[in-house]
Amino acid sequence: MKAVLLEEKLQYTTERAAPTPLDQEAVIRPTMVGICKTDLELVKGYMGFRGVLGHEFVGIVEECSDPSWVGKRVVGEINCSPRDNIVKDPRHQEGRTVLGILNRDGVMAERFTLPLENLLEVPPHVPDEVAVFAEPLAAAYQIQEQMGELPNEALVLGDGKLGALCALALEDLGCKVTWVGKHTSKLEALAHKVETLTADQPSPHAFPLVVEATGSVSGLERALSDVKPQGTVILKTTVADPHQLNLSLIVINEIQVLGSRCGRFAPALEALAENRVDPRFLIEKIYPIEESMAAFEHAARRGAAKVLLKL
Ligand SMILES: [Zn+2]
Repeated sequence: MKAVLLEEKLQYTTERAAPTPLDQEAVIRPTMVGICKTDLELVKGYMGFRGVLGHEFVGIVEECSDPSWVGKRVVGEINCSPRDNIVKDPRHQEGRTVLGILNRDGVMAERFTLPLENLLEVPPHVPDEVAVFAEPLAAAYQIQEQMGELPNEALVLGDGKLGALCALALEDLGCKVTWVGKHTSKLEALAHKVETLTADQPSPHAFPLVVEATGSVSGLERALSDVKPQGTVILKTTVADPHQLNLSLIVINEIQVLGSRCGRFAPALEALAENRVDPRFLIEKIYPIEESMAAFEHAARRGAAKVLLKL
């Protein structure tokens, strides 16, 4: 079958063997998949992953031990319990596999498998190019899951895809959002929903919640200086480069710093289905899977918005 494969290097193949499902797993035929920053990092060697790439998808269940799933259009959570120890929330479970990231082939192929308990049915009125955002949007709703009650306003740093989705999710959850980024053209897309500031403008005041999604050290420094005493900083981007940072503000102002990664899909899918969040302005281009190498090159361009693959 056709697949985007990461071996020694990234390649497009037509000769990948079709997967065999384990007990309680579905075989899924993806119709639209997203190229994520994580995929680009994996290509560079992050996690040492080998296999079929991809974890953002919407697709049709082709084969399943539970026939009621067959033919349904689904999205699915990416962390998978081992089959002999299925837990409700495997996001930090030892021995878990992660779709297209850790010990499990991903979604950029004509077929892939996923445990049944990971699947969520997509309502028919939600188009593929909206549903495919369930995974990255879930990461944005994770902020609420971690904090419980949200403060009435928030500062979001970073005008990339994740920053945009965090700004939208927090706005949807009732926060008054101020969104900071380097590119006026990107900020304009949400100017009707949130306050916007360019990165060189100072914040008007301190915020009880600051979400750092810039992917840069300077973003983290700004987050710590723009958060109110006893406020919360959510760290969304992984800055892999080692760097020096003065941590004294965290102590002096008693700031809570929370690392934040994958979210549960249900609140994100609901927001998409109810059209409370429409992420389509983030789509830059849709390529057929046969042109996946060009699509990866495109996605890796600086400042690129979302690149999708159609199957
Ligand atoms: Zn992703």
